[in-house]
Amino acid sequence: MTNFDRRSFLKAARAVTVVAAASSSAAVRAFADSSSAEGPYKLPPLPYAYGALEPHIDTQTMELHHDKHHAAYVKNLNAALKEHSQLASLALQELLLKLNDVPEEIRVTVRNNGGGHANHSMLWEIMGPPGGDGPTGELKAAIDRDFGGLDKLQQQFNAAGGKVFGSGWVFVTVDKDGKLALVAKPNQDTPLMDGGRVLMGNDVWEHAYYLKYQNKRPEYLKAWWNVVSWKAIGDRYAAAKAGKLAI
Ligand code: MN
Repeated sequence: MTNFDRRSFLKAARAVTVVAAASSSAAVRAFADSSSAEGPYKLPPLPYAYGALEPHIDTQTMELHHDKHHAAYVKNLNAALKEHSQLASLALQELLLKLNDVPEEIRVTVRNNGGGHANHSMLWEIMGPPGGDGPTGELKAAIDRDFGGLDKLQQQFNAAGGKVFGSGWVFVTVDKDGKLALVAKPNQDTPLMDGGRVLMGNDVWEHAYYLKYQNKRPEYLKAWWNVVSWKAIGDRYAAAKAGKLAI
């Protein structure tokens, strides 16, 4: 092969790779749509573009995280409940509260995939493009009262997220009186399993940050606050106080 031929070949090969990547991405989305359409539990669409959280959360991570990881939790949950229509008719928060009533042979699958479905549905909702406002009104007052201010909440939240060994989540829970508390959970567990309600939370599984941050989880935890939607969290706080916050 001459140098010219090699250059042309490489150029053509790159073009093929780009086309393949584009079509596989479309295929992933089609797969996600069809798998969730089987129900009863559904993959919620991402409420913004995959690239909307750049540069803090990269586009490819968002594509994989929503279209593959979350889609798989929904698909596996639906598959586990296929022969259990009564359980499958429950709202997700009810199902997660009644794990002890779930037959033992599917209990771990329902715990992991049902928890994964709830946690990721919450996560997409409470993020948004960088540049939004901070907490306001009753939510700000609750953060000041229960954490001593947003800075202290962020410090405690990041410290708790950094300490999770292996895979898990860090959450701020909200009770019916609007009181906030910090809690970390392993795997895809959620405070919903204890009858609690989640105001907000962040995913510290490596799949949530490894492409961009590699082993530097503290950098990811710090950057993540740039894409937190305080508007969405304020809405969740109001819903929790009204007894209307589902997951
Ligand atoms: Mn995740």
